[in-house]
Amino acid sequence: MTTISNRLQDILSIIQSAQRASQHHQTVKLLAVSKAQTAQSMREAYHAGQHIFAENYLQEALEKQVQLGDLDVEWHFIGPIQSNKTQLIAQNFSWVHSVDRLKIAQRLNDARPENLPPLQLCIQVNVSHEESKSGVLPEALETLATAITLLPKLQLRGLMAIPAPTLDEHQQRVQFKQLHQCYDSLLEHGFSLDTLSMGMSDDYRVAIAEGATIVRIGSALFGARTYAKQEDLR
Ligand SMILES: *Cc1c(COP(=O)(O)O)cnc(C)c1O
Repeated sequence: MTTISNRLQDILSIIQSAQRASQHHQTVKLLAVSKAQTAQSMREAYHAGQHIFAENYLQEALEKQVQLGDLDVEWHFIGPIQSNKTQLIAQNFSWVHSVDRLKIAQRLNDARPENLPPLQLCIQVNVSHEESKSGVLPEALETLATAITLLPKLQLRGLMAIPAPTLDEHQQRVQFKQLHQCYDSLLEHGFSLDTLSMGMSDDYRVAIAEGATIVRIGSALFGARTYAKQEDLR
């Protein structure tokens, strides 16, 4: 039987070889995406050595933070953010990957407790230019990045994207390259960044080849998501 621990070891070795083969000489971190997974599965991953987890839904995340309160987890928020959620996100997470509007960044900054380190932030970029998609358009990115760097309780670390889903490797590559270009352009304009959050279960090898420093992996680690089961546990 394949356990979470086996899958974690497999993923880590794929990450390692992709990292060695990458022209970008970056170090890649695995972010375990635990939305719709049980606290028990997360505990299993934790004991296998995975200490960084990402959640999409605030209420679900807060419940798991209580259930896993005895563990030293680093919590990342990667879901869409509504204004009324910013306070609890600012209080309960180390990183947020999904900021795409100044208003949300300001609210996170205002709500970040003084006794915590700055909230580590990635701006989500809409590289596929889909109208329905979250993320700032590349042409509006620098203005948003400039405004965010003025907020003292946020630390801008880099960029995140969720490309249009495709199993076509060329299409995956094109979108990752676009995010990398946005990143390079900010670096050229003097921003100090170190994070490219891109790549999920189906495309993380390609993302690493294109310079990803954080890959966000859910189903390849935990198995398919079953929201119905999650509801039963509440
Ligand atoms: C769900 C999710 C992931 C993980 O997706 P998998 O395909 O299960 O690896 C990564 N990033 C974001 C923003 C997600 O919402």
